[in-house]
Amino acid sequence: MGMPLKLDTQVQFIKGVGPKLGDILHKKGIDTVQDLLEWYPRAYEDRRAARNIASLKPDDLVSLRAEVLGVHAFNMGKSKRKMYDVVIRDGSGKIHCKFFRIPYKGFFERFQPGHKVRVIGKVTHFRGQIQFQHPDIQDDSVDAENENKILPIYEETEGLSTRQLSKMINFAINELKESPEVKGEPPKKNRYGGVLEQAEPFDKLPSWIIQKYELPKRFEAITNLHNPPVDHYQEFLDRKSPFHKRIIFEEFFWLELLLAAKKTGFKKEQARAFKKDFSLVKKLTASLPFELTGAQKRALKEIADDLEKPHPMHRLVQGDVGSGKTLVALAAALIAKSNGLQAAIMVPTEILAEQHFRNSKLFLEPLGLTIGMLTGSQKQSERKQTFELLKLGAIDLIVGTHALIQDEVEFKDLGLVIIDEQHRFGVHQRNALKQKGISPHFLVMTATPIPRTLAMTVYGDLDVSVIDELPKGRAPIQTRVVFESKRREVMNFVRDQLLKGRQAYIVYPLVEESEKIDLKDAVSAFETIQNEFKEYKVALLHGKMKPAEKESVMREFRDKKTHILVATTVIEVGVDVPNANIMVIEHTERFGLSQLHQLRGRVGRGEHKSFCILMLGHAVSEESRARSAIMERTTDGFEIAEADLELRGPGEFMGTRQSGLTGFKMANLVRDLQILQEARAAAFETLAKDPDLRSPDHLQLRKELLKKHGPTALATVG
Ligand code: ADP
Ligand code: MG
Repeated sequence: MGMPLKLDTQVQFIKGVGPKLGDILHKKGIDTVQDLLEWYPRAYEDRRAARNIASLKPDDLVSLRAEVLGVHAFNMGKSKRKMYDVVIRDGSGKIHCKFFRIPYKGFFERFQPGHKVRVIGKVTHFRGQIQFQHPDIQDDSVDAENENKILPIYEETEGLSTRQLSKMINFAINELKESPEVKGEPPKKNRYGGVLEQAEPFDKLPSWIIQKYELPKRFEAITNLHNPPVDHYQEFLDRKSPFHKRIIFEEFFWLELLLAAKKTGFKKEQARAFKKDFSLVKKLTASLPFELTGAQKRALKEIADDLEKPHPMHRLVQGDVGSGKTLVALAAALIAKSNGLQAAIMVPTEILAEQHFRNSKLFLEPLGLTIGMLTGSQKQSERKQTFELLKLGAIDLIVGTHALIQDEVEFKDLGLVIIDEQHRFGVHQRNALKQKGISPHFLVMTATPIPRTLAMTVYGDLDVSVIDELPKGRAPIQTRVVFESKRREVMNFVRDQLLKGRQAYIVYPLVEESEKIDLKDAVSAFETIQNEFKEYKVALLHGKMKPAEKESVMREFRDKKTHILVATTVIEVGVDVPNANIMVIEHTERFGLSQLHQLRGRVGRGEHKSFCILMLGHAVSEESRARSAIMERTTDGFEIAEADLELRGPGEFMGTRQSGLTGFKMANLVRDLQILQEARAAAFETLAKDPDLRSPDHLQLRKELLKKHGPTALATVG
């Protein structure tokens, strides 16, 4: 007998593993026994659903035994990519297994004609024929004891099969189940009853949470996940077993506990409480040609209430595109001014900085404020002057891009930080601006309506104001999806609107012609459109232009000197030109739904009826069509965001800027919303009961939070 296995034992010391397998496991991120236990099955195979090929129907999730007839590779289109086709047969017929990528090196080499395999996957339908796409194909070793069971399927690599992994994991489970780490041992106490030491338990959730949410113990959950028990088969196939719930709950819980701790921590920070001085705000609203919407007023009141408190505000204003967030931000800046403090607004693009700068000057200068702007493309001398004025306190409101967070920027007294289109910034950038003041109040704004599920995780530490009302008198946007073949009609329609004095955007997904991808790009399209609309002025705007050029193109469009703006997605955020009422988007299939929604939000900003025309390329999939149809059905950003999340998953949806969302091993934000809510409630209840996590029940939570997120997580918890 060797050393007893512990959770932190390196995997190569497991009996039968050794350095070579250890290496393979290491490449997958499995280093310790604990990592191995948490290598959860990717799917389950339902052997009870074993079938023969002749009986397969589309959408069946099946397992079958067959023999390989052959493997064929095909080139896909003009690209270098290959498609693989593994043809298999059984006594009843044959079927193709298609692969559009190689699962791992050497995968196809395993399948010599005559090789006996077990294929697990979903039957799909393609051009009137059934087939498998990316099924699991395993060597078929006859293991009678496993017939009529549900078996775990692991992500395989070369040299490591699902069955090997399963064996290894179960070996570890058996070795560990009686160990003190897993069973827990009574704490060693000194003679006064104080705890001397205690093995860190495998299960770190306090017992009150385990009971309240009816969760199985952690080790029990893990054991079962690797060995589906007969009485939970269906739940396993649906990922709805109590054992799944336990692990999913925990994954959410750690994130929510951090957010809850942050939020609790904010309440302890000291900030200058603002006097609720609305004198300037009243002057502003009196000067506007319209009245604030009810939702704008509500958001402003919530902000003013926050500002009055002795701890800094941390608020998110979430409002659909065109809902008028800018004015709310400007009004908040006025309250700061009334209190003798400076405010800063950071935006992601220079176009937007310039736009906010203009608006701020227009609305706030008459009220006695001095407005400044900082962008990367300004001359050094210009910037230097702004630095000086900021430091002296001679600028009340500064509008800028990332240029605001450079070291040279210093404020006299920064009281309010506003981040517009905040999803475009990383956490560090947002914090960097905050650091330029002493616990300034913090307001972030986003026009990406975030599905509730995501909002809870990403912004769980913020208070939220929702602007759920568009200004009155906005004619709704009419959206149509059309094919490329309807191009003529579309352009005629654009011409009709130009004749009426309106302006149009035509958006392209790319900037430069690329040989590989058969797409029209903005530059060549621009020339085509120029030819087509000889009697009008057409301008081009794309990301590779210099900031000054971009700004002058935007200015001419705003001033109606140009009529059509051919653009890439640089106009996606914030741009506000109320006279433009047509948005034509080419190759709609290349955009995500939320991006389309943002683009569409550039129109429908004035009193004119607006149109959004979504053009689809020739060879688009059924799925792309269905996706674009969602845009026809609704203009509600929240609904679209939900659909986008469902279609593309959270990682894609948020881009790479938001971390912490894709690190889940098992949890899925769409499927597991209910569990997320429970985990969130549990986390907030924990901190309400025990704000510093000092009670013996919560000692493990405290340790774990520290381990996972470092000392900053706990700085807030005291
Ligand atoms: P977003 O929420 O997308 O940032 P903006 O702040 O750019 O929206 O506002 C869109 C347009 O609506 C701007 O032209 C702005 O002047 C106008 N606007 C804002 N509030 C109102 C209102 N209450 N009534 C009418 N128009 C408004
Ligand atoms: Mg905006």
